[in-house]
Amino acid sequence: MPASNMSQLVSLCKRRGFIFQSADIYGGLKGAYDYGPLGAELKKNLKDAWWRAIVYERDDVEGLDGTIIGHQKMFQYSGHTETFNDPLVDCKACKNRMRADQMKDPSKCDSCGSTDITEPRDFNLMFKTHIGPVQNDASIGYLRPETAQHIFVNFKNVIDATNRKAPFGIAQQGRAFRNEIVARNFIFRVREFEQMELEFFVKPGDDETWHEYWLASRLQWWDDQGVPRDKIHVLDVPPEDLAHYSKRTYDLEFEFPHGVEELEGIANRTDYDLGNHSKNQDQLNITAKVHKNTDSNTKMALFDDQEKKWYVPYCIEPSAGVDRGVLAILTEAYTEENLEGGKSRIVLKLKKHLSPVKVAVIPLKKNHEGIVGKAMEIKNDLIKLGIGRILFENTGNVGKAYRRHDEVGTPLCVTVDFDSIEKEGAPVTVRDRDTMEQLSLFQADLNDYMLKYFG
Ligand code: ATP
Repeated sequence: MPASNMSQLVSLCKRRGFIFQSADIYGGLKGAYDYGPLGAELKKNLKDAWWRAIVYERDDVEGLDGTIIGHQKMFQYSGHTETFNDPLVDCKACKNRMRADQMKDPSKCDSCGSTDITEPRDFNLMFKTHIGPVQNDASIGYLRPETAQHIFVNFKNVIDATNRKAPFGIAQQGRAFRNEIVARNFIFRVREFEQMELEFFVKPGDDETWHEYWLASRLQWWDDQGVPRDKIHVLDVPPEDLAHYSKRTYDLEFEFPHGVEELEGIANRTDYDLGNHSKNQDQLNITAKVHKNTDSNTKMALFDDQEKKWYVPYCIEPSAGVDRGVLAILTEAYTEENLEGGKSRIVLKLKKHLSPVKVAVIPLKKNHEGIVGKAMEIKNDLIKLGIGRILFENTGNVGKAYRRHDEVGTPLCVTVDFDSIEKEGAPVTVRDRDTMEQLSLFQADLNDYMLKYFG
């Protein structure tokens, strides 16, 4: 059974070093979390799985890594300066601060029930800063609230460098910042997070077919990460709730411990963004309602060889949150099992490609030179396979090590004992996390076994 409440996950994450409240020695920074040794690995593995599926396994996507700090004009023409707002409401009685569109009853404070609340007022979610030593209007910059805009403004650079024609995509992963009115639910809603975004450019007219394609593809990918299809609710966002740039959006909503909420959005952004960032807009038959751009020096368009004219491609955007992905994966993987003899264990049934530690190598005795040396030799051999992190676990207590590695989702433990240094072939024990079955293997067969298992 997956985790049924957030506190199970918060406690495991802190205890085992996945996720910590940021700056908790100073009381904690609200809406900010640091990833510990195992969290950093899990997050990296998730991002690698996305990059592999979106960039390496396809022939129609290129990667990009843009800056975190963004030009004010980029966010002016994207519409963020003007419209990236949430409605803020304050309770005058208890000073509780709320997002009007998320209140249980818009006429009453969520916390104390008072009706003495302010009218909603727009609050811009972008973090504003000044670039360089002079603080004036010209030096204003923003921490990006999404990675997407760097993709749009680099569209022509990528086209020129790669000769791409539609359909093709540009993928990017990285930090995004939103000064959320209420950050809550652990890493679900935070002020600094990571996104995995693909902007997939298609000919207008092909957009609806590609939108369906990406919906199916993204659902399958989440399933491959251990977030099953039947736990994701696809919301076809009603027209009145669509973002200003969207023709249609599917929200993939997951059954998080705190409720069913968005894990990924897949939007048809039409020609809105490229149209907004383009020069010579009036020559391009842009269909979206765009701001007049008097600053761009580049035409954001492709040439149609058949029709012999320029056009602005439409864009399908699957945009996923890394942190929400980590939370969904942990929720699903978390399992409490009753064992024989009235015992129980917590086991994190992560997909093996996501596990922070792939193999723990455990010497039976921590002070025995021969056993420890052999275990280290095995660890060093396994690391050369390039399958991920191999941990040398020299605690001297095999039972405790198994429990710890069950809890952090390590798929295999290799135990080195007296047989391993005394018997011919140096047999070791390989223990499987899920079945707890133990297998005896000769040292010489270990590499092949691991390559096959993780391959
Ligand atoms: P929400 O409605 O929950 O505020 P959103 O619709 O504003 O989300 P998008 O702008 O579509 O989110 O961003 C794409 C993805 O980025 C989301 O699906 C989510 O996974 C992630 N994301 C957005 N805001 C946050 C946040 N504050 N904390 C963590 N992840 C976030």
